[in-house]
Order: sequence, then structure tokens, then C-alpha cells
Amino acid sequence: MLNSTFAAMDFSLSDHQLLIRDTVREFMRSEVRPHVKEWERTDHFPLDAIKKLGALGCCGMLTPEAYGGPGLDTISYVLMLEEVARVHVAMATALSVTNSAVQLPLLAFATEAQKSRYLKPLAAGEFLGAFCLTEPAAGSDAAAIQATATRHVAQGESGSPAAFSGSSACGTVTPDCALGVSSASSTQGAGGRSFSSDIDQPQKAGASAPEELLSSSTGHESLATSHYLLNGTKTWVTNGSHAGLYIIFAKTQPELGGKGITAFLVEPTFPGFHIGRHEDKMGQRSSPSVEIILDNCEVPAANRLGEEGQGLKIALSALDGGRIGIAAQAVGLAQAALDESVKYARARKAFGRSIGEFQAIQFMLADMHTEIEAARALLYHAAFLKDRPLASGARVSDRPDVALAFMPAPSDSVVSSGAPPSSLACLPSLWQEGGSSLSSSRHSPLATSHSPSSSAKLYASEMVNRVVYKAVQIHGSQGYSRESEVERMYRDARVISIYEGTSEIQRTIIARDLLRS
Ligand SMILES: Cc1cc2nc3c(=O)[nH]c(=O)nc-3n(C[C@H](O)[C@H](O)[C@H](O)COP(=O)(O)OP(=O)(O)OC[C@H]3O[C@@H](n4cnc5c(N)ncnc54)[C@H](O)[C@@H]3O)c2cc1C
Repeated sequence: MLNSTFAAMDFSLSDHQLLIRDTVREFMRSEVRPHVKEWERTDHFPLDAIKKLGALGCCGMLTPEAYGGPGLDTISYVLMLEEVARVHVAMATALSVTNSAVQLPLLAFATEAQKSRYLKPLAAGEFLGAFCLTEPAAGSDAAAIQATATRHVAQGESGSPAAFSGSSACGTVTPDCALGVSSASSTQGAGGRSFSSDIDQPQKAGASAPEELLSSSTGHESLATSHYLLNGTKTWVTNGSHAGLYIIFAKTQPELGGKGITAFLVEPTFPGFHIGRHEDKMGQRSSPSVEIILDNCEVPAANRLGEEGQGLKIALSALDGGRIGIAAQAVGLAQAALDESVKYARARKAFGRSIGEFQAIQFMLADMHTEIEAARALLYHAAFLKDRPLASGARVSDRPDVALAFMPAPSDSVVSSGAPPSSLACLPSLWQEGGSSLSSSRHSPLATSHSPSSSAKLYASEMVNRVVYKAVQIHGSQGYSRESEVERMYRDARVISIYEGTSEIQRTIIARDLLRS
């Protein structure tokens, strides 16, 4: 008879998780698979299909019911992404950003007024979220962003026409920004900003208008008539041409480096917000990656997410949540490449027999399968750990303190040395500020490392590239043809070890945890 110790190592999925997996699998098979080739060929972003997935609860899976989501566990979330990526990885990218990079920081750091305005339509898939951290001169080194945010208080509010909470220098528009603004002038405007025509004005979908956020926001001093002016250029913004809400990171105090970054909730209708050029990408062509240009973009102070200076912390916690989703995407895509390869190995004949009878092909298939299973195990374990500290019933997204336990501490080395090192190579100071309530969870057996999601992302993203390489090899010349599925998979896989933290940055996080534990 099994005792509770054995039960704790049960690897089976619950009936509910199986139902979610099978429902999404069937949807992707019937509604998406027949169109993928055409969508990728024409760079078509499948909004309608994403909206249908939203109706199934896939656009805000981790968001609690109180805010319009199904409030599911992280395993259910990765199962959904795996199934989507198995058919169309570009859709999985869109879903990953709106689910975790946008909604998790809202759950952890937004005021009640901000949550009630934005979470419901995001969770329902009425509009998508976008996450704007990367800039032309700052990717891995997030602390080096140059976008600025200058606080203005309306005349009469504080006795002066324009009062600044940060340094007066932070209103400077950088040369990059100036170039971006001029290049954007012809591309700004309505160009597909909303998820669907009926949500063209995202502020109509929320519970309250921005002015109402002002009166109901708490903890923000004198926000009623003040705003920030954002300037700068963001690049590679996934969903950027179609989102209804953008989390944008900009410096309120540039002289503080990473500690001077603040996060803002920006709607595409805010004055000074422009959509710039679309990236011409190697793969995932159905997923739009665009430039966002901020030209004195006027953001109500009530739309600041968290406190001034908390932005890097918010960004890094979002990215940590995102890594699990990217690992799920890698596993789903790799599984699809293996499925195609097995089919082809059975069907293709050479030297009078199927190529699957050659040991060389068998070994490739066996290695692909084994690596996928290893990545899946890492992925599910990371997802399990994400929810595990909350065995009492609450979930990570409800507990910003626990979410922070999994995030790398931001670097303030820019401040101390003036040098631009990786922002993800942590220094302890901010960590201690952000993690003051974490001491007990950090010492629990399940939380001694903060890098399970990094390990899953690192291994899965490199695994999928090895797997698609072999899939093309098994397909021979057919694998090099645009007609084959694996040719697209080969291109789609390449970016997975780059976005949401490159492999090198994941290794840095993992090694840092090893060395300080
Ligand atoms: C398709 C796509 C979608 C994206 N979506 C978004 C999005 O929605 N929002 C967003 O903000 N960004 C997005 N990005 C940007 C992405 O997050 C960055 O590309 C990524 O963080 C890497 O930054 P970088 O490209 O500037 O490379 P760099 O940071 O310039 O890195 C170049 C190389 O140097 C290495 N390197 C850098 N620092 C170190 C270090 N300290 N130690 C060792 N090696 C190092 C890197 O690993 C890499 O190999 C997207 C990118 C792509 C391609």
C-alpha cells in the first residue's frame, strides 16, 4: 500500500489538467493547424483564434476568478502553452506574454483600481498585453535602458507649474529616441492597435476611466492631476501592434541606474504613443515584434505600476514567470518536430526499406525523445515549485512576496561603478529590500534555489534547437523545403534561447544561486 511519501512523488496529471490539455489540443488541431502554413507565409497574426482561446480561459489562466480569469495552477498553464506551441509556436509567444509577462506583474504590483480596470479584459482575451523593456541599446542589460519618465504636476497642485519627483535630467530625449520619433511619424495611429474592433478603445473595456483610477488609487501621493511624460524607443515588443495595454519601463531617476527604473501601464490611445516598424524576422512570423516610440507620451500618474524605482524588480519578476512559459513552448515545439520525424521515418524509403529501420535514424529519434522528456520533467517540476510554496491555498500570483522569491536580484552596479554589466548579475542590496519577507521560504527545502525556471528555460530552449536540427536531418532535402513543417519549426525554434533571457543569462542566474547557497 502506498503511503503519503510515495503520493508526494505522483507524476500524474489531475483530471482537470488532462481536460485542459485535451481541450486545447483539440482546438489547435481543428481550428489552427489547417491555417498555420498560410498564416506564417503571410505574416498573419491570428487574432480571431487567440480570441477563441481567450473564451476558453487561455488568455489569463493564472489570473484569479475575482479578476476575471480561471485562477488555474502553473502546471495547467504550461500544459496549455505546450499544446499551442505544438501546432503554432507564434501563438504560444503571444499567449505567454499576455498571460505571464503582463498579468502576473499586475497581480503582484497593481493597485485595486488598476487591477479592476485592466485584468478582466486581459484575462478574457478582449485585448492583449505587451511588455516593453528592451531597447536598441539595452537587452540583457536591462538597467541600461534609456527611456525616461518625467513627472509633471498640474499648475496649482503643488504651487509650481511643473514639479519633478525625479532628476530634472531625466526628461532628456536621447539621440536614439529622437531618431525613433521621426521614423515613427508615418506609422503611428490606429494600425491594428486593438485586439478586435469592438475593443478598439481599451479604456472602455475596463471598470473605470484613467481619471477614476486617480481618485481610487491608494498609496500614491497627489496623483489626481499629475502625469508622467515618457520618451524613448522600445524594440522587439511582442503583440506590440495589437495590444490594449503596454507595461513600459522608463527611468524616473537615470542617475540611479537600475534603481531609477519605474513601470507604467500605458494604453495605445495615450497621446504621444506610436507604433513603429515591424521586425522582419527569421521565424515566428505570425507573431508581431514591433518598435514602440514614446514621444512625450502622457501617462496619468495613477497608471504608474508600483512605486518609483521599483521597475527593474517588477520587470525581473515578470521575466522569471515568463521563463516557465518559454520552456513550455520549447517542449511543445520539440514534441511536434519529433512527431513529424517519426511519421517521416516510417514513410520514407531508401535502399529498399523505411529509413526508420536504419540505426542512425533510430538513434536520432531516441535522443530526441529522451531530451524532450528530460526538458518536460524540468518544466513540470519548475511549474510545481512555482505553486508549491503556497500549499495553503493562495497562489504565486496572489503573493508578490513569493513571486519575488523566484526572481533574480537586480544589479545596482551601474550606480556604483558607472559600468554597464548585465542587470541580471545580482547584487544583494535590492534583493534585501524586495525580499525582506522571504526569509522563511528561502530556507525551505523547496525554495533554496531561485533558478528552477531558469534551468527549465535553459535546457528546454537549447534542447529544442538540437531536436529541430535532427528533425531536418531526418527529413533530408524535404526538411529544407518550405513545404515541410520541420523547416518552419527549425526557424521558429532559434529565438527560444534568446528571448526572455538568453541562455548565457540563465546560466549566470543558475551559477549565482549555486555559488551563494
Ligand atoms: C522574437 C523576439 C521577441 C521579443 N519580445 C520581447 C518583448 O515582448 N519585450 C521585450 O522587452 N523584449 C523582447 N525581446 C527582446 C529580448 O528579450 C532580447 O533580445 C534579449 O533579452 C537579449 O537582448 P539583446 O537581443 O539585446 O542581446 P544582448 O543583450 O545584446 O546580448 C548579445 C549577446 O551577448 C550575451 N550577453 C549579454 N550580457 C551577457 C553577460 N552578462 N554574460 C554573458 N553573456 C552576455 C547574450 O547572451 C547574447 O549572446 C524579444 C526578442 C525577440 C527576438
